[in-house]
Amino acid sequence: MRFAQLTEPRLVEIVSAPDPTPEAGQVVVEIASCGVGGSDRRAWEMGAVATPAWFGHEWTGKVVAVGAGVVDRFEGQRVVAGVSSSCGICAPCCVGRTQNCRTVLEQIVGLDPLSATHGGFATHTVADARRVVPVFDAISSRDAALIEPAAVAAHAIARSGLRFGDVVVVVGSGTVGLLTSELARLAGAAHVVSVDTSAARNELACDLGADAAFTSVEDSLHHWLADTTNGVGADIVFTCVDTAEALTAGLSLVSSGGVIVAVGVGDRIDNLSVTALLSREADFRVSLGYNVDDLRRVQSLMEEDRLRVRPLLQDSADLDQLQTVFETGARKTVGPPKVLITP
Ligand SMILES: [Zn+2]
Repeated sequence: MRFAQLTEPRLVEIVSAPDPTPEAGQVVVEIASCGVGGSDRRAWEMGAVATPAWFGHEWTGKVVAVGAGVVDRFEGQRVVAGVSSSCGICAPCCVGRTQNCRTVLEQIVGLDPLSATHGGFATHTVADARRVVPVFDAISSRDAALIEPAAVAAHAIARSGLRFGDVVVVVGSGTVGLLTSELARLAGAAHVVSVDTSAARNELACDLGADAAFTSVEDSLHHWLADTTNGVGADIVFTCVDTAEALTAGLSLVSSGGVIVAVGVGDRIDNLSVTALLSREADFRVSLGYNVDDLRRVQSLMEEDRLRVRPLLQDSADLDQLQTVFETGARKTVGPPKVLITP
């Protein structure tokens, strides 16, 4: 087998290793594709990643070997990297906060004890069988690569408490931003507005159902919102960019009693104005990862093409082109946002 390893800032190498064999509770997955996400780009730039399995975590593929004690997973089954249901034994689960299960969080960030020593930029990987989620039959293997990012967007929608008729602004039209915009519409938003510096991405956002798109949180957006909402403002603002500036800009759009949800967050949010939140009694929420229910819901929408993911996909690149993908695509803002690595 072969897998990508970060060796220094801005350098990945493809290394060979013996084919993995599954330990008890694990499955081996032959990778069909792995999406390149924002956290992968940051890891490449820094030469470091939070956990080895996190570098390339949007993978999908086929089970090729099953370890002892594994139930409901079998050879030939198409699967996607996800999370298990809540464990029932961690501290949050024991007090009934199963939505904050620590085991699920560990799986999302690659800290669970059965995760691989590398990510999904690989020909094969091993994983805890419980966090490997079957792909619905009607979803193509190529589209399946977007189940994981779609679940991230679905979780943000759930965290926002969106209600039908809401006016929604989505700051950032990368993969998660575009999927959040689509899901907000499907969830019953009356108006969805996208904000991105890229004109091409704004066009794509509108193709996918956004009512309007702006290149920044400028006067014209404020005027548009004021006109559309009779001066009330946006009920919900999602920031799908990992900069503090996006939060500050987004906060200026939230209505009194509205909600701002940080989907992408960088290391610090220290210039978020508490006064701006206070004066509106607005809620500031964060959204981290997803749960098994989010994965099910997005697959239900994808199998009937109600959640359209194909327009978000660029041409695929193979594993040996990963370094080039990072070099040429690190700041790519034209065309579809998601590059898939197909080993
Ligand atoms: Zn738990």
